[in-house]
Amino acid sequence: MADAVERALRESGTLLIEAGTGTGKSLAYLIPAAASAQRVVVSTATKALGEQLVEKDIPTIRRLGLHPDVTLVKGLSNYVCKRRLEEYRQSIVTGAVAPEHGIDRILDWVERTETGDRSDLPSLPEDAPVWREVTSSSETRIGAKCRFYDECFVTRMRRSAEASQIIVTNHHLFCADLALRNGFSGAQALPTTTPSSSTRPTPSKTSPRSSSGCASPAPASTPWSETPTAPCGPPASSSTAPGSSPSCAP
Ligand code: SF4
Repeated sequence: MADAVERALRESGTLLIEAGTGTGKSLAYLIPAAASAQRVVVSTATKALGEQLVEKDIPTIRRLGLHPDVTLVKGLSNYVCKRRLEEYRQSIVTGAVAPEHGIDRILDWVERTETGDRSDLPSLPEDAPVWREVTSSSETRIGAKCRFYDECFVTRMRRSAEASQIIVTNHHLFCADLALRNGFSGAQALPTTTPSSSTRPTPSKTSPRSSSGCASPAPASTPWSETPTAPCGPPASSSTAPGSSPSCAP
């Protein structure tokens, strides 16, 4: 499989592979991807699979002497928005709103977290209502005028992704990016890559065999790099309708 992936990357080809669980698929595509000089998107079915790649498989290939820069890109709702958090905190102080359970934990955590990714705060229940009050979203974007722009976790994640050789994301964002690139807005949900994308097969719950998700080269269009309006406003060249912009994207 590694040889086939290496060849597909080198020739900008398309490759579809099915292999059983536990046979080493991840390493068989990560190693040739890391060894190539190309920027590669690895798309997984779930956040957990993406986290597993970054936390387990990437360290493994580093032990083998390969050291690609890697960024895990998740959807906006995974990241705390510093502006909304501060506004929510002030509303509590002034008595405008009653504090939702868990806000103390978030206020404490945000001072320590490197990523602002709620998976770094496992003590907060997945369905905690307070998260809705403080998360990033395309609907709450205000553009580069945000005073937290430079320290924003989304900004940092995007800059890191721009500089990374391997971007790990999920099928939802990957396919959204493809759809946006094929649209008229010129917008993107992921950084521009070379015409080589790799997707991680999706383990089947009913079979030890696996099936693949969506995979397609990601042709370059508008650079995903920081623009004066990113990460919360639409790209300068975008005409995407309000609320649907990927600019705070992913
Ligand atoms: S730049 Fe956007 S996501 Fe970041 S803190 Fe400001 S409003 Fe929130």
